Amino acid sequence: MNPFTYSRASDADQAVAALSGKPHGKFLGGGTNLIDLMKMGVETPDALIDINRLPLAQIEELPGGKGVRIGAMMRNSDLAGHDLIKSRYPVLSEALLSGASPQLRNMATVGGNLLQRTRCYYFYDPAFPACNKRKPGSGCGAIEGFNRIHAILGQSDHCIATHPSDMCVALAALDAIVRVRGPNGEREIPMSDFHRLPGDTPERDTNLKPDELIIAVDLPATPFATRSRYLKVRDRASYAFALVSVAAALDLDSNKTVKAARVALGGVAHKPWRAEKVEKELAEKKADEKTFRAAAEAELAAAKGYKHNSFKIELAKRAIVRALSTVAAME
Ligand code: SF4
Repeated sequence: MNPFTYSRASDADQAVAALSGKPHGKFLGGGTNLIDLMKMGVETPDALIDINRLPLAQIEELPGGKGVRIGAMMRNSDLAGHDLIKSRYPVLSEALLSGASPQLRNMATVGGNLLQRTRCYYFYDPAFPACNKRKPGSGCGAIEGFNRIHAILGQSDHCIATHPSDMCVALAALDAIVRVRGPNGEREIPMSDFHRLPGDTPERDTNLKPDELIIAVDLPATPFATRSRYLKVRDRASYAFALVSVAAALDLDSNKTVKAARVALGGVAHKPWRAEKVEKELAEKKADEKTFRAAAEAELAAAKGYKHNSFKIELAKRAIVRALSTVAAME
């Protein structure tokens, strides 16, 4: 492990100031991903600013019934079990509980979950020379290598990695807003703009600036959120990343016709994949399996598989149908 300095911040302004002028510094929250990456030699920060004492671990209702605000330091377990989330945003609670292990969820924070890095095998092995995300310009070992867990949508010739978070898939479906603070004040980033597709700069996972701190996530009040579910398909029943996942929410009228839908996919792209074609296809249609299958076909029409992951294309279609059928059956 490379040498680094360590300091603690007690509020957000102090944390931002402490990172200012340190382009290779990092904030340390739960550390459940960053410390692993440092041990492997993939991340080599020269300064860690510990933000665990920041007063950002609360959840509060926004004035005027506009939704809820979740502090960035809230632990994943606390968020998943909170009454406001379980009752109003069940898809988020289910997504959180499907991720990692209880021990990791007790440590991992909302802010850190947003910044999880891909689990591509080649990214995690600095002894392997070709990985554009770890070493820009070095190539991509996965395209011709073992690519079972890799992307089928939105990938590029430079990187076919997938985003690993479950929480972020639910946040994408819920139109969450990420609130960040930097040296010039605060700004809001819609969840759809927070993570990036790889393009020719796969080393950049997000549109967060290096000197910005995530302070909160806002969930708007929507008619979809209570009728929502998270479906995760993986190689074993716990402690595994998604091969494909679906966060689905439906607003139905009394005849079970879709007034509107929100759907996002995990395990298929470099970012949580908002399934806009599915949402468009479902609008004003009867909420039945035939409609869901047609919508899934539309979304996956542009999908491209590789030697080991082409199975994900049909798997994603079936997962969309199953998730939407489950949500439509909810009372
Ligand atoms: Fe690296 Fe991305 Fe290729 Fe994986 S898929 S080897 S992270 S460039």
